[in-house]
Amino acid sequence: MSNTDPSSGKTPARPTLKAVRGTRDLLPAETPLWNHVEATARAVFARYGFGEIRTPIFEDTSLFARGVGEETDIVSKEMFTWEDRARAASEKAQQLTLRPENTAGVVRAAIEHKLIETGALQKLYYIGPQFRRERPQKGRYRQFWQIGAEVLGAPSSGAESPLRDAEILEMLAAYLNELGVRDWKLELNSVGSADDRARYNAALREALQPVKHLMCEDNQRRAETNPLRVLDSKDEADQAIIDALPKIADFLSPDSRAHFDAVLAALDACSVAYTLNPRLVRGLDYYTRTTFEFTVTTGLGTQNALLGGGRYDGLSEMLGGPRAPGIGFAIGEDRLILTLQAQEELGAPSSTGSFTAGQGGVGGTKKLDAYIAPLSPAQNPAALALAKELRAAGLTVEVGEGSFKLRKSFDIADSLARHILLLGEDELATDTVTVKTFATGEQSKVERTALIAALRP
Ligand code: AMP
Repeated sequence: MSNTDPSSGKTPARPTLKAVRGTRDLLPAETPLWNHVEATARAVFARYGFGEIRTPIFEDTSLFARGVGEETDIVSKEMFTWEDRARAASEKAQQLTLRPENTAGVVRAAIEHKLIETGALQKLYYIGPQFRRERPQKGRYRQFWQIGAEVLGAPSSGAESPLRDAEILEMLAAYLNELGVRDWKLELNSVGSADDRARYNAALREALQPVKHLMCEDNQRRAETNPLRVLDSKDEADQAIIDALPKIADFLSPDSRAHFDAVLAALDACSVAYTLNPRLVRGLDYYTRTTFEFTVTTGLGTQNALLGGGRYDGLSEMLGGPRAPGIGFAIGEDRLILTLQAQEELGAPSSTGSFTAGQGGVGGTKKLDAYIAPLSPAQNPAALALAKELRAAGLTVEVGEGSFKLRKSFDIADSLARHILLLGEDELATDTVTVKTFATGEQSKVERTALIAALRP
């Protein structure tokens, strides 16, 4: 955009500001579906005994370095971190980070508020934005939303039980089914205990030694620093090598094996279908034993992971807290919405029809009960007072403007509302309103006292 020559006397044009790369605005045509997805999560999670937790959007950087792991892509490349200056001599400068995920924050909060010490099982859910400096593409943003939940507690609370793993997975299946998500697939693995993982890591390192020079640069680095991460690699050329690597299943201790088998037995009892995926180790360092992902075939393209999660039995201790085994998940809300919208476009029946029908208009797709058109600016105050009265009675109402031509008022009203209410001198003098119902084309004068009943759907 060029600035206008100042000598011409015109105000120089200012560059147009846009949302930052990787972030986006959600407009009223879309937010009803977001609210529906969130309200359904709240309702379903409540049935399973979860309470909501809201943690800060930024935290001390070391929370993520310790919790998520220095060697992960998230911490090494993707965090929005800044040096926060001390504002007074009594304050110290500190490094802060916009949260890239919410599990570390929830566990920090549970430790800080001594929730583990209560001895009770903690079932907590959150809904909120997360931030990662990833390369933006469809389904991958730098600010994105997650709906997640965590179950954790002292060992005596039963937090370690395989029943908890199965319960979480069954709840996710119930949630996706209630939303009408079709064709979801649950992929499941066990990455074992911290000891199992250490033995497996050593075996991987050894197996990678003679072949790693054939792999991409990223995998060569991972083979050294964090061999488990090689299994996450999407690099096409490296897949044959990766498939031939040792499998975690062969390194599980009898305890880990029994835990995983008990999770599978409970899922079978609840008829939740799953596929075992021995390569599913997930991107974060804190996972132990059960790990899982739900993928979908519609709408997400290459970013087909709708949600992921797993058990993190050592995380609390890593953050300086008491022993508190736990398990949790995070749903990519942006991706869930993309999936539902794509299903809708394909004509698949779902519970979201009324949210994506695409009629446009204020507040999404549902028509307002009434549009009040004052016939001249003199009736503007009376129109606003009438709107106040109708809204107080629970009706949805928009008010026009007395300077509009009648034709314009009718056009706007027709696009927004089921009725237009005309308010002129006559109507005010006789305590009536002229009401036209668009669906039938009927028009009549209605007494003010009978108006609310006449407008109710
Ligand atoms: P993760 O903790 O990385 O497994 O993330 C859990 C879920 O969050 C993923 O399965 C995605 O659905 C979603 N997600 C992760 N990163 C992004 C992103 N950059 N943009 C949108 N969704 C994301």
